[in-house]
Amino acid sequence: MKKLIHSDPEIIESVIRACSVCFVGMADTDGTPYVLPMSFGYRDGVVYLHSSQEGRSISILERNPRVCITFCTDPQLTFQHPEVACSYSVRSRSVIGWGIVTYEEDPEKKRDALKVLMRQYADQNFHYNDPAVRNVKIWVVPLTEMTCKEFGVQSGR
Ligand SMILES: Cc1cc2nc3c(=O)[nH]c(=O)nc-3n(C[C@H](O)[C@H](O)[C@H](O)COP(=O)(O)OP(=O)(O)OC[C@H]3O[C@@H](n4cnc5c(N)ncnc54)[C@H](O)[C@@H]3O)c2cc1C
Repeated sequence: MKKLIHSDPEIIESVIRACSVCFVGMADTDGTPYVLPMSFGYRDGVVYLHSSQEGRSISILERNPRVCITFCTDPQLTFQHPEVACSYSVRSRSVIGWGIVTYEEDPEKKRDALKVLMRQYADQNFHYNDPAVRNVKIWVVPLTEMTCKEFGVQSGR
């Protein structure tokens, strides 16, 4: 089995599109890491996240807004020889992106971010009422760097 590194933006985007959750890594100023599973939307190199207005993540991001976000497609177990442990591998593709969180405050842009987010999960339009839009915190993360790897690829490919 081998690993492939992808730099084609279409492949990278297809990996992100195939995921239903991402893992948002943060670092507090004393170095304590904090990683949260979160739903997300993605458009043109920008990740959109939503949360409540307060919590540990928001406190950390106030001190350090830099994040590392990992996306991973559903892993498929694969092997070359069922009796050989080291021939087992996990077939999966993942993307890691880095960026800085800012918060969207404009109600129409918040609605737009929620649309991008829901597009990841459902192929329909939703209505967002004013209180819901007001109460939600929208994180905007333009990714400044991305890497993509594919694991468990049969040798010969
Ligand atoms: C698949 C999935 C998707 C999610 N999508 C979203 C999303 O889109 N938006 C969103 O706001 N939240 C989402 N969550 C929940 C998210 O992971 C956090 O629990 C939530 O955002 C609160 O984070 P916080 O830092 O404000 O925690 P706080 O409420 O401040 O948490 C207090 C303490 O609880 C613990 N804790 C917090 N979150 C978790 C966790 N996930 N697992 C274990 N312990 C935890 C930590 O020790 C933390 O110190 C999702 C969770 C899952 C499993």
